[in-house]
Amino acid sequence: MAEKKEILLSIQNLSFSFDTQRGVVNAVRDISLDIRKGETLTLVGESGCGKSVTAHAINQLNPMPPGKVDHGKIMFRGTDLLTLKRHEIEKLRGTQISMIFQEPMTALNPVFTVGAQIADVFMTHQHMTKQEAMERTIDLFKLVKIPAPERRVNSYPHQLSGGMRQRAMIAMALASPEPGLMIADEPTTALDVTIQAQILDLLNDLKHKIEMSILLITHDMGVVAEMADRVVVMYAGRKVEEADVFSIFETPRHPYTLGLLNSLPSNTKYKNARRLEAITGTVPDMRTIGAGCPFENRCAYASEKCGQEFPTETVLGESHSVWCHNYHMVKEG
Ligand code: SF4
Repeated sequence: MAEKKEILLSIQNLSFSFDTQRGVVNAVRDISLDIRKGETLTLVGESGCGKSVTAHAINQLNPMPPGKVDHGKIMFRGTDLLTLKRHEIEKLRGTQISMIFQEPMTALNPVFTVGAQIADVFMTHQHMTKQEAMERTIDLFKLVKIPAPERRVNSYPHQLSGGMRQRAMIAMALASPEPGLMIADEPTTALDVTIQAQILDLLNDLKHKIEMSILLITHDMGVVAEMADRVVVMYAGRKVEEADVFSIFETPRHPYTLGLLNSLPSNTKYKNARRLEAITGTVPDMRTIGAGCPFENRCAYASEKCGQEFPTETVLGESHSVWCHNYHMVKEG
């Protein structure tokens, strides 16, 4: 059994809600998870299940108000990030926690060259001269495999392809003195499949080269298979299953996880191919969820108890837990 690495970030019983004009949206409810040094943890689930709200709570990127932390802690290198003041979390964002987004155009400034924007990170946080900062930027462009880096640092974001922009964003995320945690929010969703594969390879490569931890948010089980060491499956703001990536794919025990896997194309020959199975129904209204399991209205395994109380954790193995009353009935295939 592989030795467990040190915990870098620990989210403990986090609940986060939004007070909207149409009612309180309980976006995240009692989520706990750990990210260890050098591992990739993926948060997976449909849109609106609370993945991004959980990740954005780490570096306080959720709008507050209307958002608010109802309870919980987010411990990072001995500090509860939820207690930090704005200037303190901003400093951490540029130095130890970085973020890449689905569409880099929204994060890159269109009126400055990509090189100038990355060099600015070096000058601000590491007090480098302009020339030193630009040399380091070119080194980073080489690291993220941007061709002709000396020329590309002078490009504006709109002059780069989608894949190149995402590489530039990754370079910016690595421009911190001690990149500990990278949060990647659907980083390949906007890219075509061949470029997606290149970006995922790059992230995997960098993770091993610089022992970075990655929190990867995705709705795509193919990306999970490619990237994850461990997987947290979320549904309607709750954690419903957590396991190492092999257990998730080989012995899923939550009906929602099984549904996500059954909606993946299989790798069989055409004559054995099956129709993809959709999960019927939709995610419930997060303002009116009761005390029971929120998956009840879509679940083929639901029983009377499911509508009455949310299940407690069942530990199935050292790294595998599920929150389901009827997990023992769930069989893949
Ligand atoms: Fe389905 Fe009940 Fe399990 Fe929820 S607790 S996933 S409704 S079987």
